[in-house]
Amino acid sequence: MQQYRITLLPGDGIGPEIMAVAVDVLKAVASQFNLEFVFQSALIGGAAIDAVGEPLPQETLATCQNSEAVLLAAIGGPKWDTLPRHLRPETGLLGLRAGLQLFANLRPAKILPQLIDASSLKPEVVSGVDLMVVRELTGGIYFGQPRGIFATETGEKRGVNTMAYSESEIERIGRVAFETARKRGGKLCSVDKANVLEVSQLWRDRLNQLSSEYADVELTHLYVDNAAMQLVRAPRQFDTIVTGNLFGDILSDIAAMLTGSIGMLPSASLGSAAPGLFEPVHGSAPDIAGQDKANPLAMVLSAAMMLRYALNQPVAADRIEQAVLQVLDQGDRTPDIMSPGMNPLGCQGMGEALLQALSRAA
Ligand code: NAD
Repeated sequence: MQQYRITLLPGDGIGPEIMAVAVDVLKAVASQFNLEFVFQSALIGGAAIDAVGEPLPQETLATCQNSEAVLLAAIGGPKWDTLPRHLRPETGLLGLRAGLQLFANLRPAKILPQLIDASSLKPEVVSGVDLMVVRELTGGIYFGQPRGIFATETGEKRGVNTMAYSESEIERIGRVAFETARKRGGKLCSVDKANVLEVSQLWRDRLNQLSSEYADVELTHLYVDNAAMQLVRAPRQFDTIVTGNLFGDILSDIAAMLTGSIGMLPSASLGSAAPGLFEPVHGSAPDIAGQDKANPLAMVLSAAMMLRYALNQPVAADRIEQAVLQVLDQGDRTPDIMSPGMNPLGCQGMGEALLQALSRAA
């Protein structure tokens, strides 16, 4: 029997509620596919601040490093917003990403026919959209040096950031993107601003060189301004998009919003070596925490991404994704995706519906 150590980070707000559903789903899938998950829970974010006075205890990072994959629900909330920056929940999450050296962020955006009305775009534009944004996460302008606000000779202040990528940074994100495209529709679109920026010219050259090693993947290029336009004009043209940190930050949010429902969006962050971090795109939703109103599907779909990208169990991942489609098909809805005539469920009820769908599939 294949055994995997999974670190669970339930975090804050709705985190523990949605994590409980994901764990039940993983247990059900484990018994169906002869897998064994050894779950270890650890503290992060506000929960860690309350318990031990810091948002990312050393013990949590060590537990994560010692596992095959990390499932995170969400961190943060108003209770901790006024603490100094080094004690904020978000600092814990940034520390975790850095500590695990997660340089690639994968965010799928898929329109589910059952929820097509949730999109703010016309159904004929978004119908059939199924794309993935691969964003470089640890380089580019968010980390480049020099940076700061400096006084000039005239005494005027000047803000400076630096967009820089080395060939090796481009190559490692490029490889993740080509591999991802290979597992999907075999089309990779690289987004840059090579008409203006030297750093983008290097990005484009290096990706072109890499493409000779991935003859089965079709590589194209778009400037970022055109890519933003195309994403809302004709999003079906995209399969896999790869881009740097800044452009990826913006484009992945545009792509996510094509679907219109934040409670449905999973993500994965990967490094060169295990473990990857799998988490919903949404936050801790303090406004609905503890009320059994949270949509657990983004969390459950993050667990499916974990099976696919970290544990190489694509059939088990498919099984979970099919169960999600099935509960939506039968009209089950949490409040955030509710529409007239559908069957209202809470977070726990949605979890039970998923377990029933899984047991029917077995
Ligand atoms: P949010 O994503 O938590 O919530 C935005 C809105 O979406 C709220 O109305 C919320 O009720 C709703 N929502 C979010 N997830 C939902 C779900 N699964 N089911 C149903 N409704 C859902 O963003 P926010 O309100 O800007 O931030 C709240 C806290 O979360 C802040 O402390 C923020 O720093 C933190 N945050 C954490 C992460 C993370 O853990 N990765 C990401 C974003 C925000």
